[in-house]
Amino acid sequence: MKKKLLYISLLIIILYFITYIHSETKREYYNLSSIFLNQRTSYFQNIKLRKIQISNIPDNNFIKSINLKDNNQNQIKRIPILMYHEIKIPEESSYGERYTVSPSMFKKQLKIMYKNNYIPISIEEFLNDNLNSVPSGKKPFIITFDNATSGQFHFIKQNNNLKIDPNCAIGILNKFENKYPDFKAKATFFIDFINSKGLFQLPFQQDQYWPKKLSFLKKSKYNIYCHTCFHNFISKVKRKTVLNNIRLYNYLIKTNNQYKILAYPYGDIPDNDKKINVIKKYFDFAFGAFSNKYGHKSYRIHSKKFIKYNIPRIEINNNLKNIKKYILK
Ligand SMILES: [Zn+2]
Repeated sequence: MKKKLLYISLLIIILYFITYIHSETKREYYNLSSIFLNQRTSYFQNIKLRKIQISNIPDNNFIKSINLKDNNQNQIKRIPILMYHEIKIPEESSYGERYTVSPSMFKKQLKIMYKNNYIPISIEEFLNDNLNSVPSGKKPFIITFDNATSGQFHFIKQNNNLKIDPNCAIGILNKFENKYPDFKAKATFFIDFINSKGLFQLPFQQDQYWPKKLSFLKKSKYNIYCHTCFHNFISKVKRKTVLNNIRLYNYLIKTNNQYKILAYPYGDIPDNDKKINVIKKYFDFAFGAFSNKYGHKSYRIHSKKFIKYNIPRIEINNNLKNIKKYILK
């Protein structure tokens, strides 16, 4: 009987401990769960907050477009750079068949680029690797003009007022932007001071309007860069001639451009280190007239394949051949 009592009391003690431990665990559990619940509350509050922030932005598609644009930008590895010379009816041009594109063909070329989702960016945007102006799903390209020909930028007089000729390159580009507002008319003019006969000539040929044209270009989204003063073959002339050409150009043209950029006349790359050092001293970047060893489209500036002093361009003639062959294929 005594033994039985001992067992019962032992059982009671054990039961008491179990209940105690259980209640402690329970307390602990409640403490933990309340912390957890608090965290969950703040977690949900955060979600709410995020929702509020998102709903503050007028259009939720805007967020989607940012993400898409980032992806879009990463997908773009190479950028085509178009090289034009004269924009004129071929019969009226002194630049020959190869280098003259008719105004109607130029419009056609802009249209085919636009229909294939290409949007112009400026040369600065390209060199800053800034593709923010390129909408989602679109691709960037660059328009450049060499030799400052009369068909690139031409004024006409109308009722005693000066007007940009609607058939010159700038006139066509402006009109194209008016018609298709997401196509921003941006282009670069590599200018020199010589005409097609090899004589000194102010850029774009209408000498009396040169100061007006220069100030227009400086204020506009179009920009001007160096094509040397006298358009020599760099590999055929002395280093000093190269130097004088650049110095004379710098004397005649003063701009506030972010970069110093050269387009080699005839796409002729310097043939020795002394001349290359002159180019490197005076310019941050230089554009060729053809492909470089990586092909026709330029790689982006941060790519290992980007060549700072031989950026390739695609020559555009009076047809759609090179656009289809090197860009759209
Ligand atoms: Zn040239």
